[in-house]
Amino acid sequence: MKNSLTFQEARELLLAETRPMGAETVCLAEAAGRVLAQNIPAGGDVPPFDASPYDGYAFRAEDSAGATGETPVTLRVLEEIPAGSTAKYPIIPGTAARIMTGAPIPDGADAVVMYEKTEFTRETVKLFAPAKCGENIIRAGEDVKAGTVLAEPGDVIDAGTLGTVASQGLEELSVHRIPRVGIISTGSELTEPGQTGGPGKIFNSNRYTFTALLRGAGCAPVYLGTAGDEAGAITALIRKGLAGCDAVLLTGGVSVGDYDLTPDAVVAAGGRILFREVGIKPGMACCYGVKDEKLILGLSGNPASAVTSFHAVAAPALRKLCGRKDCLPREVTLTLAGGFSKKSPVTRLLRGRMDVSDGTARFVMPKDQGNVVLSSTIGCDVIAVVPAGSGPIAPGSRLKGFLL
Ligand code: AMP
Ligand code: MG
Repeated sequence: MKNSLTFQEARELLLAETRPMGAETVCLAEAAGRVLAQNIPAGGDVPPFDASPYDGYAFRAEDSAGATGETPVTLRVLEEIPAGSTAKYPIIPGTAARIMTGAPIPDGADAVVMYEKTEFTRETVKLFAPAKCGENIIRAGEDVKAGTVLAEPGDVIDAGTLGTVASQGLEELSVHRIPRVGIISTGSELTEPGQTGGPGKIFNSNRYTFTALLRGAGCAPVYLGTAGDEAGAITALIRKGLAGCDAVLLTGGVSVGDYDLTPDAVVAAGGRILFREVGIKPGMACCYGVKDEKLILGLSGNPASAVTSFHAVAAPALRKLCGRKDCLPREVTLTLAGGFSKKSPVTRLLRGRMDVSDGTARFVMPKDQGNVVLSSTIGCDVIAVVPAGSGPIAPGSRLKGFLL
């Protein structure tokens, strides 16, 4: 067990304990947003043949030499080639084929002219300008050349990847299984939305905050239940999570108070505690552990502390669990528009929004950054990092940060 790790060290410790999920095969319709577990080498050229980009006429460029508005060249039309079919006749000197967008270029032709630039009848077409060899021809492999590696294991299947894979004719992909992450809420003060509150009770918001955050991280959240401040009940829920899920996330009870029972419960459930403190504010107290290669993410009950620890420490490991090769968040440099008046003896993680509308990355911050202020996480898309030992920060100062 270690104390006062930097959040980057904590991240790395957790990443080192994380094994990516195994693979399963899914059809393309199910593959959007999943994480690839295979390479995708292009098996063939796309498009697979030279094709016409227009409805027009295919011909030999040299036949059009000398064509002008006054002295057009007239070619004999051999046939029509609709998209999806191939030419019956090669283009020989003095001939052309009427060709539709996407249809293969007939043998012998090396240029295409669009209808609009010609005059035509069923039998003939007039050209009014010389064409260059290769003009208006989409080349085989112009999109993708056979043998190119299109995507790699660990890539998230975005729209471009999925479409490109489909253009190869593949119908299935090997992807990482989606990790089921169990959520446990702890705290005798909790009651559920929809139930009546009562004296001293608060609604369980963490359950829902983390349902959303886990889903956003590519995991399948599974609610395991709420335990009061009672070690046996917390242990039982952790055991249930370890049995049925790929990782467990719990909130509450991670400090050193009389009712902070999560660390004991983690140990009682067979878990090995990795660290209980990270040098960040909010989110210093935590209880990250592991059992049989399953992560146990013990976060503070304080909503904003829990969210901050999740983004700074837990999220990269969850991305790795999902199979992603880029686990770390994207770093940015931000200009702190309004300044920040407090000192930061430990590294302070400010939640906010990045505004790039005027061409610089401005950090727009909710005023109240207290660790109970969950509402200040609404719409947040970036965390700014105030280095440990900083004094008040002047307006216009630059801070490093990372995108959520
Ligand atoms: P704890 O980390 O258990 O000391 O909890 C700190 C504070 O976080 C509690 O006093 C509650 O106000 C709040 N809290 C704990 N769990 C939750 C939860 N599931 N939803 C909302 N707030 C919570
Ligand atoms: Mg508590």
